[in-house]
Amino acid sequence: MGMTRREFSVRGLAAGAGLALFPGLVAGRAWGRQGGESPRPRRSYFEWVSAGAAADDFWAQAAIGEGGNSLIVVRGTDSLLVDTKNAGFGLVLRQEVFDVAGTVPTYVVNTHHHADHIGGNASFIKDVQLVAHENAKKRIIDQADRLAASAKRALEQAEANEANKDEVGRRTIANIRAAVEALAATNPEDFGPEKTIPAGKEMTQGALLLERMEFHHFGPGHTDNDIVVRIPGLNLVHTGDLLFYRRHPFIDRSAGATTTGWQNSLRRIMAVCDEKTIVVPGHGPLTDKSALQEQIDYFDKLREIVGKARDEGKTKEEVVAMPSDAFAGYEFQQIWPRTVAAMYEELGGGS
Ligand SMILES: [Zn+2]
Repeated sequence: MGMTRREFSVRGLAAGAGLALFPGLVAGRAWGRQGGESPRPRRSYFEWVSAGAAADDFWAQAAIGEGGNSLIVVRGTDSLLVDTKNAGFGLVLRQEVFDVAGTVPTYVVNTHHHADHIGGNASFIKDVQLVAHENAKKRIIDQADRLAASAKRALEQAEANEANKDEVGRRTIANIRAAVEALAATNPEDFGPEKTIPAGKEMTQGALLLERMEFHHFGPGHTDNDIVVRIPGLNLVHTGDLLFYRRHPFIDRSAGATTTGWQNSLRRIMAVCDEKTIVVPGHGPLTDKSALQEQIDYFDKLREIVGKARDEGKTKEEVVAMPSDAFAGYEFQQIWPRTVAAMYEELGGGS
C-alpha cells in the first residue's frame, strides 16, 4: 500500500482522531482514581493507576480491567505498552493510552501468549513494534480465529451492558466494533511479534529498547514464554502472570508451566526488588515484593496439600473436588479445580 507503519499511525488509527472526537476526555495523565474520592463520571473504561514517576517525562501507569493488567511506561518521546488485554479491547486500550500518555506506544511487549494478554495486539500491529518471547510467536498466531470469535462476544456483551450508555461506554463500544472489523481483516501471521526475544534457558536483556529497560526470562514458569519487564529508574516490575495476586493461578502445563520453575522465576524477580519496588501483577491490584513471597508460599502449600492427598490414595477426581479452604479470600475460584489438577499431574498423577 506504500505507507510505512509509522505513517499509518499518524494518518489513520492514531490518536489524533480520538482527540478531535472526544476533546473533553483528554485530561492528561493525572486522573487515576484516588482513594476516598466521591464517585464521579467515568473518564475512562479501564481503571488507570499510577505505577510510579521519576520525572515529568518518565512515569508509568497501569490499566486494570478486561484481562491482564496493562502498563504504559513513558520515557521522553519513547513509550512501552505491556500487554494488550482481551480480544476486542485493543483499540479501547490504544485510545486510552493516548488519553493518558498523549502518544501511541513506541513498542508493545507481550508478557506471554495467553489470550487475555495479547487479545488487543491487532490494534497495534500496523504501526507499533511488537515484542514477545520466541516461544510465544506461534502460540499467538495460532489463536487468530479464537480471538476473532472472542472479540465478537465482547462486542455483544458491551452493547448489552447498561453501564455503557454513557459517553465513555459509547466510545468503548465503537472501538470494540472497529477492533472486531480489524481482526476480521487481519492475516493471522500479523498477530505475531515482529521482534522476538530468543528462546533459551534464561535471558536478561538490558537497554534493549528504552533506556535502562530490562526484559527477563527465567525459564518455564507460568508458560514457556514468560517475560518480566523491569524499569529500574522507576523501581517497577511487571511480572506478567508469574504473579496472580491473591487469585488462584492458572498453571498451563500444555504451555510448559511448572510450579517449581514458577517459584524459581519468582525468587529471581525478588532478587531485583527492594521493599519499595512497585510490583504490577498479571492479575490483581498493584502490590509489592511481599506478594511474590506469597505466591511462592501458595505453591508450597498447594504442593503439600495435594501431595498428602495423593499419599492417602486419593484419585485425581477426588483431589480436584477438594475445597480451597486453605486459601481463604482468594479470587478466581473458577480456576481452582484446574490449579489442583495441574499440581496433581506435576506430582506424577494422571494427566
Ligand atoms: Zn497467563
